[in-house]
Amino acid sequence: ATPTALMVGTGRGAQLGILIKGPQVLESTRQVDTIVLDKTGTVTTGKMSLQSVHAAADVDRDELLRLSGAVEHASEHPIAQAIASAAQEGAGSDSALAPVADFSNHDGRGVSGVVDGHAVLVGRRGWLADEWSLLAPQELIDVADEAEAQGKTPVWAAWDGAVRGVLVVADTIKSTSAEAIAQFRALGLRPVLLTGDNTRAARSVAERVGIDADDVIAEVLPADKVDAVKRLQAQGRTVAMVGDGVNDAAALAQADLGLAMGTGSDVAIEASDLTLVRGDLRAAADAIRLSRSTLRTIK
Ligand code: ADP
Ligand code: MG
Repeated sequence: ATPTALMVGTGRGAQLGILIKGPQVLESTRQVDTIVLDKTGTVTTGKMSLQSVHAAADVDRDELLRLSGAVEHASEHPIAQAIASAAQEGAGSDSALAPVADFSNHDGRGVSGVVDGHAVLVGRRGWLADEWSLLAPQELIDVADEAEAQGKTPVWAAWDGAVRGVLVVADTIKSTSAEAIAQFRALGLRPVLLTGDNTRAARSVAERVGIDADDVIAEVLPADKVDAVKRLQAQGRTVAMVGDGVNDAAALAQADLGLAMGTGSDVAIEASDLTLVRGDLRAAADAIRLSRSTLRTIK
């Protein structure tokens, strides 16, 4: 490969909104046959909003939002921001959220802390069950199932040893995602969706953007995303991965080609070979097309 042609390719990438770590990256793009996509922040906007609040019997809905929001206020997760800002609005402009003591963030699971003397957990149902062996009331399970079937994420809240309610959050699929995925297929790449979110929500998003249900890998803890990439590689696949989050960094580094959303975290960008400046997934297809045409010029 002539360095000049690769340099030209790199310059063309910049025009397309693709930052390339070095000319050698274009060469490693050639064999890619699988493209793993993080869901939240990559296929979707990652800006969550609170859709609905469902309190268990005997629980006050405002109290549910107030205590959940107080704990989430200490987290930077997009789910946390949606719940905390809704709680803030509910509390009115002049009253601040209650302070939280003993806060902890449980990566890929939820948050915990003490608010107004209540030990509060907010997060996924399986984690609440493991942590406190909590049983959820059937009417809340029905609410959560329905939310997941619609591609939304139910967040469970518990305090003082009982499940107290479900807060449903959702984000929006980027308008460009389905087209980008169609372009990946046209380039001969198989798209795979990888997420920590629940399986039903992940499948619903996959269906709407054109990813096969069999190619959805969901409920993956942050530390296990890298293993999902390794397993695909062990099947003989050459893997590109697109992600935006701190929790995607190890998987981005493991992939044969790592692509970071420019709108994402610095850690993800550092771990990647390419950065899609505008956070538009279609630029990933442009990058693959560019590297193929650059290499064809060289041949
Ligand atoms: P993703 O892979 O989609 O970026 P994460 O790994 O960050 O997702 O989180 C996985 C799941 O863990 C979320 O869908 C949610 O159910 C739960 N979770 C993580 N952080 C929080 C939080 N701060 N509050 C409530 N739930 C959370
Ligand atoms: Mg993400």
